Amino acid sequence: MHILLVRFSSMGDVVLQSATLNWLRALLGKDAHFSFVTSSEFVSMIGAHPEVGTVISFDRRNGETWGDLKRKIRSLHSERRIDLILDLHATLRSFRLRCSLWQIPALTVDKRRWERFFLTKIKSVWVKRVFDLDLFGLEPQVTRIIRDFEGIFDDGRGVRRTIEFRRGANQELTSIGARVRYPLPAPYIVLAPSASFAPKRWPVASFVELTRILLAETPYHLVILAGPEDSFCDAFGALASERLHNLQGKTSLGQSMDILAHATLCVGNDSGMNHIAEAAGVPCLTIFGPTDPRFGFAPHGTKSRFLAKEMFCRPCSTTGKYACYRDRHYCMEEISVAEVRETIRQMLGDL
Ligand code: SF4
Repeated sequence: MHILLVRFSSMGDVVLQSATLNWLRALLGKDAHFSFVTSSEFVSMIGAHPEVGTVISFDRRNGETWGDLKRKIRSLHSERRIDLILDLHATLRSFRLRCSLWQIPALTVDKRRWERFFLTKIKSVWVKRVFDLDLFGLEPQVTRIIRDFEGIFDDGRGVRRTIEFRRGANQELTSIGARVRYPLPAPYIVLAPSASFAPKRWPVASFVELTRILLAETPYHLVILAGPEDSFCDAFGALASERLHNLQGKTSLGQSMDILAHATLCVGNDSGMNHIAEAAGVPCLTIFGPTDPRFGFAPHGTKSRFLAKEMFCRPCSTTGKYACYRDRHYCMEEISVAEVRETIRQMLGDL
């Protein structure tokens, strides 16, 4: 069987689909072939996954058109017949792609849009608590995907085998394959202060203060990972220590994956970096602000944790891209440095 999985972005969402690949492999066995369509910037990341046979890149920023992408998929289809398209993005653009490839059977993931919508619109902590009992949990996204899709793979003997889909001592569901060691002194903790949208960032001043405390109170090296556009990381320049390695804008995505894969711990926002670290089996502390772990993005490793404040206004959007409408960024500012430090202390004690 040849399955084409489609997920264009974002970084964290693409990493999370590695769990879908692991599940499909466990379910369909070694003869199945998996291809993956994604945006060009994530090709190296998903291409490193051991279960991916072919990666099709879509480089829209550099002028590639939907027609070009369709041609690439048709060419793959003629080389090796695609039996099924799994649309894991479920947006207008992926819908458009599926329509243009109507000859190939396709299924779309249910993103629970209505549930997410209600959770962001209801402005009462109590109503949300009741609502949450019925519709949400902290189950990983892949569990929902399995529930939605496993029936179609029923071979007449039932599909119970997928229920046992769990791997490794840390119960990793996602994976990124083996990574080489980046030349950094060990052991180290990674701090990932960036996120795709500014409201999802814990204040950089809090990250700087946390770094100062960790340098003073622990023997660990501290590595800052962020993209070239994250110049707010200059704030770490206020700290002078040989154990602080500010690599903001200095690493490729592949190098960041190498660094994360060999970290003792990763502390960051609800972002791709934390999802990558988890996929490498590294315990993560994820700080949630305007988004919500119940959307399927809670860290799933048994040694991972998350921090989030219960308040009427959060979550205020499903992706965290809208500007805060309150007078202060309460959801993030109310998570104190001391609270994060104490959680890290407990996590290090559990290792
Ligand atoms: S404080 Fe409330 S409104 Fe502002 S970003 Fe956070 S969740 Fe959204």
